[in-house]
Amino acid sequence: MGKVVDHLLVSKEEIEEFCERIGKQITADYAGHEIYLICVLKGSFMFLADLARHIDLPCMIDFMAVSSYKGEKSTGVVKIHKDLDYDISGKNVIIVEDIVDTGLTLSHLKNMLTTRNPASIRICTAFDKPSRRLTPIHIDYIGKEIPDEFIVGYGLDLDGRYRNLSEVVVLRDDDVEN
Ligand code: 5GP
Repeated sequence: MGKVVDHLLVSKEEIEEFCERIGKQITADYAGHEIYLICVLKGSFMFLADLARHIDLPCMIDFMAVSSYKGEKSTGVVKIHKDLDYDISGKNVIIVEDIVDTGLTLSHLKNMLTTRNPASIRICTAFDKPSRRLTPIHIDYIGKEIPDEFIVGYGLDLDGRYRNLSEVVVLRDDDVEN
């Protein structure tokens, strides 16, 4: 059965507002320093692109693709599909995520990157589903807290689709046979 859009959850305007808010906050927090933004692929490509335009600081931007090993939740291991291009030792790193759900991937990723000796490391996410958390993780910058619903759009996908939507929607099963 296919899926159709059920309802809008986060509008374009709301997204634009939180990108500006977080960009200004990061600019103030790191005044006088260079930052190293890590875009966690693939879901955060759109958020990274919008957020970066609101950050008025010297900035490096890099990309990483990771996944947690399934069924080994407690091992703290992340599989790296694409690693960073540069050394982050001594850098002020900000991990930019699309959504924090259980928190497992991000908590493993943060631990792994911490071993590379950055000067500092913070986490920024567009969306946060705190009700789903399985591990406590401190998030420094949050665009919007959302309820426990599966969302797509604004970079987030369902089997590779819907990433191009400029707002965030909730899907439902299409009950029309076709
Ligand atoms: P976790 O925090 O559980 O380790 O994993 C977070 C990842 O799960 C996100 O980066 C995203 O890829 C995926 N994810 C979690 N919730 C959603 C959702 O509501 N919609 C979509 N499209 N992906 C989600």
